[in-house]
Amino acid sequence: MSSTPAGVAPLTLSGDATVAEALASLQRTGKGIALLNDQAGRLQRVFTDGDLRRFILAGSRMDAPLGAIEHGAPRTAPVATTHAEALAMMDRWIVDQLPLIDDEGRPREVLFRRDLANRIFLSSPHLGKAELDYVSEAFASNWIAPLGPNVDAFENELARVVEVKHAAALSSGTAGLHLALRILDCRPGDTVLCSSLTFVASANPILYEHAIPEFVDSDPESWNMSPTALERALEQCRRENRLPRAIIVVDLYGQSADYDALQPLCEHYGVPIIEDAAEALGATYKGRPCGGFGRMGVFSFNGNKIITTSGGGMLVSDREEDVIRARKLSTQAREPAAHYEHKEIGFNYRMSNVLAGIGRGQLGVLAERVEARRRVFARYVEQLGDLEAIRFMPETPGSLSNRWLTTLTLDPSVEPRRLLDSLGRLDIEARPVWKPMHLQPLFRGAAFHRHGGNRDVAAELFDQGLCLPSGSNMSDAQIDRVCDAMRAALTNRQPS
Ligand SMILES: *Cc1c(COP(=O)(O)O)cnc(C)c1O
Repeated sequence: MSSTPAGVAPLTLSGDATVAEALASLQRTGKGIALLNDQAGRLQRVFTDGDLRRFILAGSRMDAPLGAIEHGAPRTAPVATTHAEALAMMDRWIVDQLPLIDDEGRPREVLFRRDLANRIFLSSPHLGKAELDYVSEAFASNWIAPLGPNVDAFENELARVVEVKHAAALSSGTAGLHLALRILDCRPGDTVLCSSLTFVASANPILYEHAIPEFVDSDPESWNMSPTALERALEQCRRENRLPRAIIVVDLYGQSADYDALQPLCEHYGVPIIEDAAEALGATYKGRPCGGFGRMGVFSFNGNKIITTSGGGMLVSDREEDVIRARKLSTQAREPAAHYEHKEIGFNYRMSNVLAGIGRGQLGVLAERVEARRRVFARYVEQLGDLEAIRFMPETPGSLSNRWLTTLTLDPSVEPRRLLDSLGRLDIEARPVWKPMHLQPLFRGAAFHRHGGNRDVAAELFDQGLCLPSGSNMSDAQIDRVCDAMRAALTNRQPS
């Protein structure tokens, strides 16, 4: 039994197990299947929820040993069975699980229909155990309004995790970026620099304020804002006497930008950084958490992010006055007066106490989620690393990525769109890398500052980049299914 694989061990019952113990095991694992092996570790019986229900209805006692129950030989398949063959067998036998056994008859793996037949999402929400308790507390105490104890606690807890002094919980990350520009007194016509390779939410707030976006290229190693491009952009702005109001630096796909190079530049020109860490909660740079490298940092808790409140965001800063401003502007900029007094434009951007409850639960499992996403990445590298046609997004020196998404670039000989089609046909949701902002019709005519020479690094990454399914709740079998499909498509084999 010493060699029982990790995926099989929790499902395995000892030889003298009873009906009651089998039921307890099914309840514990939630996998719908329990295995009974003999002394040599060979599979003897397979029990499902349905089997046990039938035994009990037929009068079996709870303390009856499983070995004594009349039960047919288990449905199994050899380890070399492909996923497609396994699905066909499950259909034929009307079962949802299939143990794979080696030549000795020992179970090596159990395949589950839901892993093989269901759509694999790019990044789906992954709830823990505590979220519902916090939400229930909000219901029980009737704190359903925006604001409330969960909001305060979520702000404090997040500030502690990302090692900043203050935080304001908001309705979205986009709202956070918008408020950050407002707090920096961004005016119509002001220049704002922004990473080009990002999601449109990084740049939309610049347009909300009728400011003028200029986009900065990526560094080919980090995929994040190129310090050389930024330096040239700032120098040009200074010459033209229109230094930017702010620089929005994105930590792309969970990897920190190179702040040791970017910060001194921004300080030299006296331009504040807004760190768009929407994708990078839990990541670090030189041991410090992402989100704290600018004058303000912004996180998102949208449904696809590493942790979620279904929708939400946070603005963080070490400057208390910035966060106090954010709280005021996000609640309609109400002046301190019992009647409703207003001197400036405000927004309805605050997070609700119910959603903050989800956030508190999610924050409690953040470290696990980061570990899980990094594990997903490592499994992809382990299985696909030998393929010459792909290169995974590098982790730059000093940065610890949360690997929110596993991303890679393909050799120019591969057509990413065709690869995406092949994956799509197998119900695998992969995506191209973000389309850079300077290539978007929305920002036609906006200035773009290249990394160097004629190279448009952001466009290259877009042309040849790919994001693989990366959810922290992916099973090994699901990752393997993606790997099978990738290898098949890249080596022109038929997928298994
Ligand atoms: C998700 C995301 C945002 C926006 O966050 P929302 O909460 O969806 O508004 C901003 N920037 C980046 C880079 C993002 O990935």
